[in-house]
Amino acid sequence: MNHDRSRELYDRALSVLAGGVNSSVRATRPYPFVIERGDGAHVIDADGNRYLDYVMGYGPLLYGHDAPEQVQSAIQRHASQGPMYGGPTEIEVDHAEFVARHVPSVEMLRFVNSGTEATVSAVRLARAYTGRDKIVIMQGGYHGAQESTLVEAGDDPYHTHPSSPGIPEEFAEHTIAVPFNDEAAIREVFEERGDEIAAVLTEPILANYGIVMPVDGYHEALRDLCDDHGSLLIFDEVITGFRVGGLGCAQGKLGVTPDLTTFGKIIGGGFPVGAIGGPAEIIEHFTPSGEVFQSGTFSGHPVTMAAGREYLRYAAEHDVYDHVNALGDRLRSGIQDICEDQAPEYTVVGTDSMFKTVFTREAPETFEGHCEGGCRQRESCPRYEICPKTGADTAAAATERWERVFWQEMKERGIWLTANQFESQFVSYAHTDADVEETLEAYKEAL
Ligand code: PMP
Repeated sequence: MNHDRSRELYDRALSVLAGGVNSSVRATRPYPFVIERGDGAHVIDADGNRYLDYVMGYGPLLYGHDAPEQVQSAIQRHASQGPMYGGPTEIEVDHAEFVARHVPSVEMLRFVNSGTEATVSAVRLARAYTGRDKIVIMQGGYHGAQESTLVEAGDDPYHTHPSSPGIPEEFAEHTIAVPFNDEAAIREVFEERGDEIAAVLTEPILANYGIVMPVDGYHEALRDLCDDHGSLLIFDEVITGFRVGGLGCAQGKLGVTPDLTTFGKIIGGGFPVGAIGGPAEIIEHFTPSGEVFQSGTFSGHPVTMAAGREYLRYAAEHDVYDHVNALGDRLRSGIQDICEDQAPEYTVVGTDSMFKTVFTREAPETFEGHCEGGCRQRESCPRYEICPKTGADTAAAATERWERVFWQEMKERGIWLTANQFESQFVSYAHTDADVEETLEAYKEAL
């Protein structure tokens, strides 16, 4: 493949954009291919190379790069009529009603402009609502570029440190980090500090850590602990929302009801978005009905609302989730077969339309179809002995081998995966059986 034009453009970018990009994950080595346009399940770069895309904008693009006609016309209409006003519109009410109708824990929403903004506001709301400062998060979870959650675990759950320069040490003091799936660890934290904890903030399925499913009973334990101690349970469904579990989201699939949910990605139909949802009794604490300050020039942007609304409406009326989940199943079991043959030290993870191959045998082996999301608790499983008890063991992965070798090999075969070993990959409605076959062939060769 020729990448001359990409290299040239990236050189220009390096002079005017920090690191040549506007989001750090995009700076793949030695230099990223610069994307010119999308086409269904593919992207085409500045040199005319075509790649089968499983990055899918890091999750939002449920339909790939050609949204259904009704989505496109709604986008065009709202873009040409405004595009935004600084006053309320009907489309944001429509969109909120739709989400509230499909996600039982959500009665009311506040739309914002990114997943980060959603988790920032959810944490502020939880702190104000409970009158407490501490939040508990999961090691390996990700909640965007926000101060409270950019922490690294310390020697114990209470001594976390900022994971980026520029964040005061004191901020991390309010964040407690426990290993995901370790019920004993969080139980201990609640026993010691329960009356200081405003909220437990977790992705229902860790999607930024090699895709870690919850073990049976874990979220139920979180729910009970929060109830017993007057803390809120916040599910960060920025990735899983309207991707895992269809329109009921991961919380519906897992059968656990959080107090608050953060959304992003898919609910914006490919445009910048975030949202905080929950019962009116909590959400109404946001200004102007309450006292917790929350505001944004672009929040509830009409073009975003129209795109998101039509995205979800189309999914409600068509076989979108059946299609993407079936292809996800085929990819996971196809890659699993290849790994068993060629790379038994690797683990295939994921659910619904999310998949990843983690380059370690230590990763939780939890993709549905093989282990049904609970294998670590099943002593009858032949791999029980080597299955870890928490999600933290994904850290044993050969990240450099993924990023420097395998990811490059796949790219050269025209398959675009997420360059970070731990970030999920996504199937869209535009992907086909033939795409899956092509992908499996490439995995076979590259592995
Ligand atoms: N929460 C989760 C679970 C995420 O995966 C992400 C981003 N991938 C965010 C929050 C932050 O969203 P954004 O990048 O839109 O700010």
